[in-house]
Amino acid sequence: MSEFVAFGGTFDPVHFGHIISARDVAQQMGYQQVHLVPCGDAYHKGGALTHSTHRLAMLEQALAEEPWLLADGRETRREGATYTIDTLKDLRSELGPDAHIAWVMGSDTADQLTSWHNWRSLFELANVIVVRRAHESRPNLSSWPCRWMQDTKDFKACAFGAALELELTPVDISSTDVRCRLKNHQSVADLVPPSVLKYINTLGLYRES
Ligand code: ATP
Repeated sequence: MSEFVAFGGTFDPVHFGHIISARDVAQQMGYQQVHLVPCGDAYHKGGALTHSTHRLAMLEQALAEEPWLLADGRETRREGATYTIDTLKDLRSELGPDAHIAWVMGSDTADQLTSWHNWRSLFELANVIVVRRAHESRPNLSSWPCRWMQDTKDFKACAFGAALELELTPVDISSTDVRCRLKNHQSVADLVPPSVLKYINTLGLYRES
């Protein structure tokens, strides 16, 4: 069975929380590769995002030495608002009906899923893996139209329609925190890889409000 595993997000900027969680998902689930997929510029939730060229470039540099992780720019090349459902439709037609497709999200994102465009249809195209973020209580996901699974082998046998909660070692970092520290001229050396810090410093990103 072919597989495609994606961790979507804004990655503004990518930090060790993303990288360590994605790496842990790959290792715990036995996946060959996890794609980190930054959203496009017309982000449906609004708010000023750093241009996708930079968000993707930082991701590429951060993951250059990560054998299990891949920066995937497919959503940044699409026009208009980024909807995960469109990405999943493309993936499903690319990979065929039997491929195991899994979309990974943190518990904060999972808690908001019911506000996403066409969210129920996600489960007709893919499976979902929820990872707990530091200091987050367990979200109530009982309205999700999916089969909850505990066994990773059973989960990986599903093409779509299943969900799994994965307990990882929490990494208490957010992009908001990184941006805030940079704006206040504080160090982020423990929060992002050196290559990302270099990119940020060279372009002077996140320094102004
Ligand atoms: P922001 O602070 O700007 O909201 P963020 O740190 O939450 O950003 P995103 O790019 O929005 O990062 O997150 C992408 C995905 O990664 C989401 O599903 C989010 O829940 C998850 N995620 C982000 N940080 C962590 C972390 N430290 N541990 C586990 N999952 C995380």
